[in-house]
Amino acid sequence: MAYIEPAPIRDKSNPFESMMERFHIAAEKLGLSEEVYNVLKSPTKEVKVHLPITMDDGSKQVFKGYRVIHSNILGPSKGGVRFDLGVHTDEVKALAAWMTWKCAVVDIPYGGGKGGVKCDPRSLSAGEMERITRAYTVAMKDVIGPETDIPAPDMGTGPREMAWMMDEYSKMEGRTIHSVVTGKPVVLGGSLGREEATGRGVMVCAIKAMEKRSIDPASATCAVQGFGNVGSWAARLLVEKGVKVVAISDKSGAFYKADGIDIEAAIEYRNNNNGTIEGFSGAENIDPDSLLTLDVDVLVPAAMEDVIDANNAHDIKARMIVEGANGPVSANADKILQEKGIMVVPDILANAGGVTVSYFEWIQNRTGYGWTRERVNMRCERFLKSAFEKVFSATKEYDVSMRIAAYIIAVDKVAKTYMFRGGF
Ligand code: NAD
Repeated sequence: MAYIEPAPIRDKSNPFESMMERFHIAAEKLGLSEEVYNVLKSPTKEVKVHLPITMDDGSKQVFKGYRVIHSNILGPSKGGVRFDLGVHTDEVKALAAWMTWKCAVVDIPYGGGKGGVKCDPRSLSAGEMERITRAYTVAMKDVIGPETDIPAPDMGTGPREMAWMMDEYSKMEGRTIHSVVTGKPVVLGGSLGREEATGRGVMVCAIKAMEKRSIDPASATCAVQGFGNVGSWAARLLVEKGVKVVAISDKSGAFYKADGIDIEAAIEYRNNNNGTIEGFSGAENIDPDSLLTLDVDVLVPAAMEDVIDANNAHDIKARMIVEGANGPVSANADKILQEKGIMVVPDILANAGGVTVSYFEWIQNRTGYGWTRERVNMRCERFLKSAFEKVFSATKEYDVSMRIAAYIIAVDKVAKTYMFRGGF
């Protein structure tokens, strides 16, 4: 096969290279033709805009905005909008491709997309954020749409920004269109159960992985890095299943308690303490780096990318890693963990609960009928369990890790769909 092989991976690699390496391995295992390989690796559309914004002091500042549609083979593209100073084309491209594979793994009828604005949300007022969000929506009018490309929140954006996007898009269309974005406030067509959906998916995958390794959740221990939306919900739901969460951390530091941290107390503390667990007295302070190398059954990195790399992978003692965050394990670390026999449930499966419930939000908006929380949670769990089983079977069929198995399933699905649809 005459693919152009991606450059070898450096650690702390650029996310696009990291995604491409995994895609490449899956393509080889599947024996993908060069034609299909080239179609699937190339983003369908890359749009870059410049947004002139009036700042609160009356000055004008120009912000760069991006939207990349990696694929719309399975359906309209889906993916978040990130507001961050680090936003750049390569990152948006990688994240868009990630969304293609994530949607394909959990079997929802979406392609992958991603967008962003290069800005520092912490230094912007609410008014400035609103003007940037609305200007971005207008500039992307011909890209986004309920049948074409459906944004959602990502780093630096949330329900507030989605409400502005939905409103601006609706104004341009002259009618209310809820389904153009997901992750909206519930009162504006958001879905019940969306807030906890990603953590729920992490919990489902962790329980499934324990089942495969014959570990009883009631006697299992877990460490969670990151105590934001994903980490705290995963911790709370794992505790409900009987798992002892012995360590948690956030940007401010890490905490450990051998007989299990009271997660409800930690969440309450965080909610009343500006969103951080700094100063939490329910457990002892530990070195944040040591959390990753604790001797636990399950490690859930739910903070940021590349926290487990070739430097610390040898020291990991957890039996399994369930990736709440996107890309927390570098490609080089993957190889080390596999040699050590540590099961890694990859991000495109483990944190796909969020996009799954976004899909449910879109369905609810399009039918005009809101589901109960129970229905959302039950269906989210069903999708994740079924995806986990498919990926796990593929590890046996192809003799590969869970990560490569997930890519194989995703790439195979998109490739087959492309072959049926055909090109020009
Ligand atoms: P969040 O902002 O709610 O929480 C992030 C948490 O990580 C915070 O507690 C923060 O203090 C902590 N953190 C940051 N740097 C850290 C560090 N170096 N060490 C320890 N903790 C650190 O974000 P979130 O929505 O929970 O997202 C977390 C990760 O999950 C991201 O990678 C995100 O892309 C991914 N993800 C989120 C969703 C979702 O639905 N929210 C869906 C899929 C993937």
